[in-house]
Amino acid sequence: MGLIITSPLRGWATTLDDVPDPVFAQRMMGDGVAIQPLGDTVVAPFDGEVVTLHEAGHAVSLRSAEGAEVLIHIGLDTVMLKGEGFTPLVAIGDTVARGDPLIRFDLDAVALAATSLITPVIVTNAEAFAIGRRTTDAAIGACEALMTLVPVQAEARRRSDDGILVEQAVTLSLPHGIHARPAARIGEAARGFEADVHLVKGDKRGDARSTVALLALGTAFGDEIVVQARGDDAEAALAALVALLATDMGEAAAAVVAPLPATAASPLRAGQIGGVIASPGLAMGPAARLRQTEIAVAREGAGAAEERAALLAAREEVRAMIAARADGASGSVASVMQAHLALIDDPELIAAAEGRIAAGNSAGFAWRGAIHDQIDAIRATGNAHLIERIDDLIDIERQMLAVLTGTPLDGANIAAGVIVVAEDLLPSQLVALAAQKPAGICLRRGGPTSHVAILCAGMGLPSLVAMGDALDEIAEGTPLLLDAELGHVTAAPSAAGTDAFTARLAKRDARREAAQAAAKDACHSADGTRIEIFANVGSVDEARAAATQGAEGSGLVRSEFLFLDRDTAPSEDEQHAAYQGIADALAERPVIVRLLDIGGDKPAAYIPFDAEENPALGQRGIRVALARPDLLETQLRAILRIEPAGQCKIMIPMVASLDELRQVRAVVERLRGEMGIAAPVEVGVMVETPAAAMTADLLAAEADFLSIGTNDLTQYVLAMDRGNPAVAAGADAMHPAVLRMIGETCRLAAVHGRWVGVCGGLASDPAALPILIGLGVTELSAVPGFVAEAKQIVRGLSLPEAQAHAALALQCKSAAEVRALARAFEETR
Ligand code: PEP
Ligand code: MG
Repeated sequence: MGLIITSPLRGWATTLDDVPDPVFAQRMMGDGVAIQPLGDTVVAPFDGEVVTLHEAGHAVSLRSAEGAEVLIHIGLDTVMLKGEGFTPLVAIGDTVARGDPLIRFDLDAVALAATSLITPVIVTNAEAFAIGRRTTDAAIGACEALMTLVPVQAEARRRSDDGILVEQAVTLSLPHGIHARPAARIGEAARGFEADVHLVKGDKRGDARSTVALLALGTAFGDEIVVQARGDDAEAALAALVALLATDMGEAAAAVVAPLPATAASPLRAGQIGGVIASPGLAMGPAARLRQTEIAVAREGAGAAEERAALLAAREEVRAMIAARADGASGSVASVMQAHLALIDDPELIAAAEGRIAAGNSAGFAWRGAIHDQIDAIRATGNAHLIERIDDLIDIERQMLAVLTGTPLDGANIAAGVIVVAEDLLPSQLVALAAQKPAGICLRRGGPTSHVAILCAGMGLPSLVAMGDALDEIAEGTPLLLDAELGHVTAAPSAAGTDAFTARLAKRDARREAAQAAAKDACHSADGTRIEIFANVGSVDEARAAATQGAEGSGLVRSEFLFLDRDTAPSEDEQHAAYQGIADALAERPVIVRLLDIGGDKPAAYIPFDAEENPALGQRGIRVALARPDLLETQLRAILRIEPAGQCKIMIPMVASLDELRQVRAVVERLRGEMGIAAPVEVGVMVETPAAAMTADLLAAEADFLSIGTNDLTQYVLAMDRGNPAVAAGADAMHPAVLRMIGETCRLAAVHGRWVGVCGGLASDPAALPILIGLGVTELSAVPGFVAEAKQIVRGLSLPEAQAHAALALQCKSAAEVRALARAFEETR
């Protein structure tokens, strides 16, 4: 009968191969199992005695009455937290029973601060016990069976009692003393010799081959240790161990990172700075600081005629520069350049500038004044979404002033592969920078829905924004690891941290390559479930880009692109031509046109509303269309004319009740009759309100499909304005409350056999895909640039494992915990 080791934690059990640290993955310390924790309390895995408890509180080992020694090491690199977040509940020498609490830890804080939360449970005296059965790739509760140990017939252990004892003292340079990782290295070195090697500290003596014995020495930086060796090759063993102990074993790099201030809300590890994810991804490279140079302009002009001519010439030059950037660009770059072209020719701006020139100002001073009047007017609206557009005005101001004064713009000297660190970036700066191929972007200010953020996402450039004052601490050239999946950057990382990050990057690159090779293939999960990967598009250009990336259709045509930034609504013919162009670009693949989603953060001047105190809860989406039947009917006619009939489906935004679907359906059916369209037209609803999610069964009974808009669903579930950078950091769609809403939507829609898709930002987040599939989503509509990768991620998943993973995610306590779980899931692949 073997000894049963039960799980010390609730979580997901996996093999040591999945631990991104060679000390554990290569079994240097012994064999075992790793657990991705979901619980916050480590309990005793058997009856026994506490043999070691590291003073940082992150590792504990126990010995059973039978002599089995088991080490539980919470997370990776957690020794560097110096006890922060860990509360030991026992002391060395205590006798404990199975299930007794040993250490409690702050799961959220440690998840954010550690390299990984994955917790190896290691049998450190593997020469005495073999592992029989073990649980892996499964959810596990604390005190559920994890491993069985079977005593092995101990090989008569070589003893070298004879021979001369040689010894030498050495002062420890290990910044955290001998903790688990160095103990494993020492053990490995000692096993290379025949001699018996012991380490002695004061009155304690431990076998150098035993991790537990080394941990039990309780060493610290600067301690004097005596190495003793006895046996045939004692001299060589002594020399090797002394040499090893005199080094920092690669640990010091991490320890000397200057602690940078972290915000109270983000318990980050020293050297890490948190930020809001503007574009997900990973990047590493040296910091390259970009500072905006102030452009001074003279107030007085040289005469109205001359200044007017200078203004005109500068506008022409800047227009040509923007047009050159727009040339060949597609997607978001093209649309931002389009917005800039409109600004450079904006009649109000020009008239205001000319008025100032007439009053005696220079062209530059006049242009600056005209722009700032506009900025003040926008600020006065208090609309966060509009306020983010101020960047575009400042951008046009700087481009004009640079030309008028002959000042070179910043950023020309950025090298490929760097991580740009800046106060903020203007859209044109980013587009210019992107040509120099930086690896990532870190901004002190900025919001997640600004044009710069949208551009970064469109380019697939990993970016964090709203990083705050701590970013100022980063010096030019500092090596950085930018984790725009967990939302932080690590400055001057440890060697181990860099290795783990490099491995993640390599995996990501390999997946991208495989994704491109199979971009055009249909997408099925590993066990054959059909998952459709569509793209969100807002123009014909984007539809073409999506088709090139392998999109199997469009799950969201943002029809508002036709309605914004103009003075009158587009006609039926104009709309029809635009929708038909998108349908043609996607060549008979399904195209889901969302009805006009205007209001809230997307105002249109020709659809006047009374001032609303809370526009996000006011006239938005379908509420506007139902209040303006003229707009609704014109749009529906334009969609119904698209050929071939049936290619286009209609999707209703911001639905809060079944009645809205019924009203739209009635108009669609009436128009079909009037237009003589025989083919049925599918009408689906967006799930963006908690009301729609919780009544998904009622909606699914009459809708042809449901598509979850996670951007709005998140803002309404969490009551956090998606356009307000002050709360944006918390508005993470991976919050368990949002995930539960998604799960509930899928469950309720399945009652009527309707498919559920996701067309919000979560569908473009690699960390979220396994959870979404596990919750029952069968269609994902992502940004065009992510389509091929999304397919590849889905191909690597089996439905049962995605379901188990999603079930764990629903039990998490925070978005950070979900993200840590998602990362651990990815690490196991
Ligand atoms: C959403 O809310 O998730 C969505 C897709 O719509 P939009 O971002 O356009 O509001
Ligand atoms: Mg929305």
